[in-house]
Amino acid sequence: MQAEPLSTDLLIVGAGLAGLTAASHLDDGRSITILDKGRSVGGRLATRRIGDAVLDHGAQFFTVRSDSFRAAVDRWILDGVVEEWCRGFDEADGYPRYRTAGGMNRLAKHVAAHLTDRVTIHTSHRVERIAPGAAGWSVEAAGQRWLADDVLVTSPVPQTVEMLTAGGIGVPDSVASLQYHAVVGLLATLDRSPGLPSPGAIQQPHDPEFTFIADNQAKGISPTPAITFHGAHAWSAAVYDRPDDELLSVLLDRAAPYLGDAEIVEAQVKKWRYTGPVTPHPDRTVVIADEPGRLALAGDAFGGPKVEGAFLSGLAAATSLH
Ligand SMILES: Cc1cc2nc3c(=O)[nH]c(=O)nc-3n(C[C@H](O)[C@H](O)[C@H](O)COP(=O)(O)OP(=O)(O)OC[C@H]3O[C@@H](n4cnc5c(N)ncnc54)[C@H](O)[C@@H]3O)c2cc1C
Repeated sequence: MQAEPLSTDLLIVGAGLAGLTAASHLDDGRSITILDKGRSVGGRLATRRIGDAVLDHGAQFFTVRSDSFRAAVDRWILDGVVEEWCRGFDEADGYPRYRTAGGMNRLAKHVAAHLTDRVTIHTSHRVERIAPGAAGWSVEAAGQRWLADDVLVTSPVPQTVEMLTAGGIGVPDSVASLQYHAVVGLLATLDRSPGLPSPGAIQQPHDPEFTFIADNQAKGISPTPAITFHGAHAWSAAVYDRPDDELLSVLLDRAAPYLGDAEIVEAQVKKWRYTGPVTPHPDRTVVIADEPGRLALAGDAFGGPKVEGAFLSGLAAATSLH
């Protein structure tokens, strides 16, 4: 551990949409440090390259219900980052589904690129412990220590509980009891289009195996044919702990009927332990301590799930930390 702690006015754990949104709405002169364990920003706004192919493997699209998210999405559309993908999958229902040009992760990078120079982001920094100290919160990550006046934690709740428990901080039961769905997915590059129906995706919420299947080329984010499969929650939970090679052969077998004449070039398993909350906490943000400064929690498990929920939770956290 480095001897001299670094100091910051506000420390945010997590550079997913909730953490980035909070930072972008706290432009009040304070210094902000964001720590994320991932190699890049975005969290579940996740896009992977396999060869020349580009595949969204976390969030696939998003919808807009609130005025504040509407305003942000309109801005991102003007910036050329977000585009309408379609108005429904099986049949059009009139509600726009949005995609990000180049893949969902680009949205996080776009928000991060527009933060002021008072915000510093460190990726590949896993926060191990948050503890109260005499002069503020002590946050330990990657062999360094930060002293922060206020802290906002936006990681999925089980990960948040780990870092707070390590620092001797109790988490209210209403938060600690929040549970998440797991998803097991398959990413595959193909030698030709799988010929999925327009708009290049199948959504089947009640299917026992795959609930969403997307052709990333038809979606407009991949220059070459590449397909993403997301497993149903119950099925994913049942097979989650099986070894990857075993899962890959099961997934390939079940994926085959959706590939048309296409052959798989390369395939990978992708597991998400924390896809989204089973039942979100009723509040968009929760302040769990006021001393030695504020310690707030946010993320898509607070107030409402999905991309919009993460945005609105980040916004609520920014308001409560002003
Ligand atoms: C498979 C899948 C499909 C989905 N499909 C959709 C969809 O189609 N539409 C939709 O709207 N939503 C979808 N979602 C949900 C959506 O992606 C999330 O709701 C949203 O991205 C969550 O944002 P967040 O900022 O709350 O959390 P995250 O994006 O998870 O950000 C939290 C960050 O905390 C970091 N972190 C965790 N622990 C630590 C630690 N100890 N130290 C430092 N950093 C840490 C993580 O690396 C992460 O970057 C999907 C999610 C998944 C996984």
